[in-house]
Amino acid sequence: MEKIVAKKKFGQNFLKDKTILQKIVEAMPNNDNKIVEIGPGLGDLTKFLVDVKSVEAFEVDTDLCKLLQNKFEKEIATKQLRIHCGDVLNVWKSELIDESYDLVANLPYYIATNIILKALADPKCKNILVMVQLEVAEKFCAHEGDKVFGSLGIITQSVGDAHIVVRVPPTAFEPQPKIDSAVFLIQKNSDRSDKDFEDMLRVAFTQPRKTLMKNLSVVYQKTILQDAFLKLNLAQTIRPHQVSTLDYHQLYKLTRSLDGTRESGN
Ligand code: SAH
Repeated sequence: MEKIVAKKKFGQNFLKDKTILQKIVEAMPNNDNKIVEIGPGLGDLTKFLVDVKSVEAFEVDTDLCKLLQNKFEKEIATKQLRIHCGDVLNVWKSELIDESYDLVANLPYYIATNIILKALADPKCKNILVMVQLEVAEKFCAHEGDKVFGSLGIITQSVGDAHIVVRVPPTAFEPQPKIDSAVFLIQKNSDRSDKDFEDMLRVAFTQPRKTLMKNLSVVYQKTILQDAFLKLNLAQTIRPHQVSTLDYHQLYKLTRSLDGTRESGN
């Protein structure tokens, strides 16, 4: 077979470091779920995965699909591996496959955030163990008070727990990316579903360095906000990244119920 040249447009950086591959497999939650791998590439991670679990892989690059079909002929025959060739985002409705699965992948970075948000919303997806750009991993794993705590961290904490498994330098890849990467794990205990709550988060973080009060008052009535802040014991000067996920949920409930009270009172 001719040599495969990495295609930039598909975000191809192949993970070659065996220690990191091993660490990903070790961090996998212990259960009977299927594994979904998005972007198997040359199949280095896939090889580790099919040894322990049954895998469904989605690969957009037809050259790589052919290579994988040859390389894993045996695993495909025994149904330990199934390869879907095409853009995963085109086939992903609300559920990517029709049974419980864990997403384990070194993701294509240009669509990584989108993929993770879809997986958080997918009721069939139970856990997410993925490699992404370090900054992206830090946002998903952030806690209240962290500079990068924002919508992604709050959405994640609303559905489960997240932590960074390992940081990965560019030298682990071929070709080497210019940025640092990290593997992180989200263990879900529910699914992302509340669009209105996420709309409020978008408003809350419009200007991340301004106060939360200032951001929210563009959309919500000042008096309602003042009542809610008082009830939750939040300072008027608090910045959006300093408020906990729990308080965001309370704030959401209060702005809705206080809003309702006012309307019915008018
Ligand atoms: N998992 C491999 C490759 C990672 S590179 C490894 O660790 O070495 C990212 C992979 O995602 C590439 O194989 C790329 O072709 C694939 N990819 C990019 N966009 C995709 C999409 N929309 N759907 C499915 N796969 C995609």
